Amino acid sequence: MTDWTIESMLKWAADDFRQKGIDSPRLDAELLLAQAIGTTRMQLILDAKRPLVADELARFRDFVKRRRNREPVAYIRGDREFYGRTFRVDARVLVPRPETEHLVEVALSRTSSRSMSLRALDLCTGSGCVAITIAKERPTSVVVATDISRGALDVARENALRLGAYNVAFEEADLFPPPAKFDLVVSNPPYIASAEIDTLAPEVAKHEPRIALDGGVDGLDFVRRIVEHSVNILDVGGVLAIEIGDGDARRAAALFESAFGDVRVQRDYGQVERIVSGALRNAGADA
Ligand code: GLN
Repeated sequence: MTDWTIESMLKWAADDFRQKGIDSPRLDAELLLAQAIGTTRMQLILDAKRPLVADELARFRDFVKRRRNREPVAYIRGDREFYGRTFRVDARVLVPRPETEHLVEVALSRTSSRSMSLRALDLCTGSGCVAITIAKERPTSVVVATDISRGALDVARENALRLGAYNVAFEEADLFPPPAKFDLVVSNPPYIASAEIDTLAPEVAKHEPRIALDGGVDGLDFVRRIVEHSVNILDVGGVLAIEIGDGDARRAAALFESAFGDVRVQRDYGQVERIVSGALRNAGADA
């Protein structure tokens, strides 16, 4: 009888994923096997020779089948790391991306002078990763987060509870909640041009919620609405920080210029211009 060990199952799955053209076959196999048997990737290496029992094998085979169908690893596992914390995710929300960690960094560093009493608003919160991270990093702040999707809000609320982020409130809204004043508006809105969505990797195009991706004809529908409306709810000097799509930096920065000063564009780990931010000017002041 062949022993189906951790090592041999990892090799089998990685080879299978590689053949199917999946980007990171070995890493995916490890992430899925670790989850299937309730351990860590590190422990897989230490226990490489251990044979798997029947229900571990069954669970892993099911995970491999789903991954072959290009379902994102994060949905299969049911979680994803973001800014050093583990967030629950499923097909109701966008998978948190490493580049979005830059959005959090920009938002935190540009508001450090008011960190004690920060009032922050996160639009299109999805899994809640941005809002909850800000709430955890700034425990004395008050954070409001909105999404139009009830399913997403359920995921976000569960994440806030599990991570102990008690200073964040979630509201169902098409972007903006009822009027209030904020020191920070932050958003990773849908920013893919509608016609481009089907050209993206199947993990994204076939599995992630379209409502979390689709930014309209030129991808900037939400950016425009957010910039326009933020002017009314930020205090003077308040910061707006938005994640944008590859190639959108110039157009997005131009939208900021009419009401925001000190407009900055920051790059992500892949050197793509990814985050645009600015501070609300005094309406009477010179540009
Ligand atoms: N704010 C969430 C994230 O950054 C969801 C963004 C979205 O759904 N467009 O992952």
